[in-house]
Amino acid sequence: MSDEQELGITESKQYNTGEWYAEVVQKAELANYGPEGMSGFIVTRPRAYALWERVQNFLDSKFKQTGVQNAYFPVFIPEQYLEREKDVVEGFDPEVAWVTHAGREELEERLAVRPTSESIIAPYMAQWIRSHRDLPLRVNQWTSVVRWEATETKPFFRTKEFLWQEGHTAHATHEDAWEETMTRLDQYASMYEDLLAMPVLRGAKPEHDKFPGADTTTTVEALMPDGKSVQAGTSHHLGTSFAEAFDITYTDEDEGSQVAHTTSWGLSWRALGALIMTHSDDQGLVLPPTVAPEQVVVVPIWQADTREKVLDYAESVVDELEADGVRVELDDRDERNPGFKFNEWELKGVPVRFEIGPNEVDDEVVTVVHRPDGESKEVAREDIAETVREEFDEVYAKLYAAAEENLEGNVREADSRADILGTIGQHGGYVKAPWCGDEDCEAEIKDQIAAEIVMVPLNDEAAEIHDGEECAVCGEDAAETAYFAKSY
Ligand code: AMP
Repeated sequence: MSDEQELGITESKQYNTGEWYAEVVQKAELANYGPEGMSGFIVTRPRAYALWERVQNFLDSKFKQTGVQNAYFPVFIPEQYLEREKDVVEGFDPEVAWVTHAGREELEERLAVRPTSESIIAPYMAQWIRSHRDLPLRVNQWTSVVRWEATETKPFFRTKEFLWQEGHTAHATHEDAWEETMTRLDQYASMYEDLLAMPVLRGAKPEHDKFPGADTTTTVEALMPDGKSVQAGTSHHLGTSFAEAFDITYTDEDEGSQVAHTTSWGLSWRALGALIMTHSDDQGLVLPPTVAPEQVVVVPIWQADTREKVLDYAESVVDELEADGVRVELDDRDERNPGFKFNEWELKGVPVRFEIGPNEVDDEVVTVVHRPDGESKEVAREDIAETVREEFDEVYAKLYAAAEENLEGNVREADSRADILGTIGQHGGYVKAPWCGDEDCEAEIKDQIAAEIVMVPLNDEAAEIHDGEECAVCGEDAAETAYFAKSY
């Protein structure tokens, strides 16, 4: 096998999505699997961490513009704290990792490694909040959590330890908490749409699939090219359940004691899994320029007699881009030929390639190639820093359009059980169907085809239920429109 074949992707995205994804993650140097005995853990390599940092920066600045401050709470939660909100104990119990010993000493009370931090943040919020003037209170932490997932793990999509942010807020009224819930959901949607070139759907989880203890769990869902949905971020209206369990109360303007209303919202590195899966192809990773660690790679193409003039010209282009804040790499390795370099940078997902040979130098142009579709064109050397931004916008628009086409073409309707099963079986994607609200009706579909209700749409008039509409599964009165899909 030649070097080039070993470097490249051998699996097919279309036919072997799982294996293809694993190969892209490893060969594009994004992650390694954890050590033996720790299945479900990953090592995040610098190229993937750089992507996470861009997600972080985007969200962190949005959070801060809307009244959120960052804080940090301990990684452990005393068992008693976790038990104070009973739904949390029940919901997370099978997935909690426990610390029982410190050195050789057994601890008096075992400590949970946080699966999420409501139970350790809420008691401090209770101390910090005295009067209505202390509200709203908003804190966020960037951290990792541990959930001993029973279902199959997959780098970034589902890992036993994952990086995320968790925001926690307290408000005076139910309405304020609802507004907060939606603000965060919208910010998640914007992160996908404006940073990762992925359209998403917004919805609420059905009652039986809410976050433990929540009034309402809202979600952004992204459709992968293989027809499965990804729960890409969640924002929970927690009502007063945590406030009651942890005594988060405040005195109102009339000196009366009131219980606060809380929210929590989290987005994890699953976003990176969705990003990789959505745009990449059989040549490897594809990234939008917004997040790519290198936005442009410049590959000089020379013979012995043109080496100096090509390299000088390429260096001047690189200097100009760098001075303008573009993340650019000059691949001037002598020991590799241009074809090898093209393949390697394609595999690593650099969105724009510049090819510069003697002809480009003579004509004062640069040949530009777009990673997603190989489109190639000559552009003037003059104003190259400005031109490259236009190329970035074009690449971004191409990626977004492809993802949007996949989403829009894969929302179908069904009005019977057979129709739901047949449509998902044949096409994947989302199937909208009127639903009575009963978990048993979902279970029937789940048993047969491993699809579930991933959401009930929010603010979608087309999804409103009309008098006389019947549940597609049981035929009783329908209460809402459900989106069925297979999911990651
Ligand atoms: P939750 O606290 O359960 O609402 O989770 C918040 C978000 O974290 C979810 O919407 C998922 O996108 C993500 N998430 C949940 N579990 C995992 C996991 N095991 N690995 C990676 N991301 C996860």
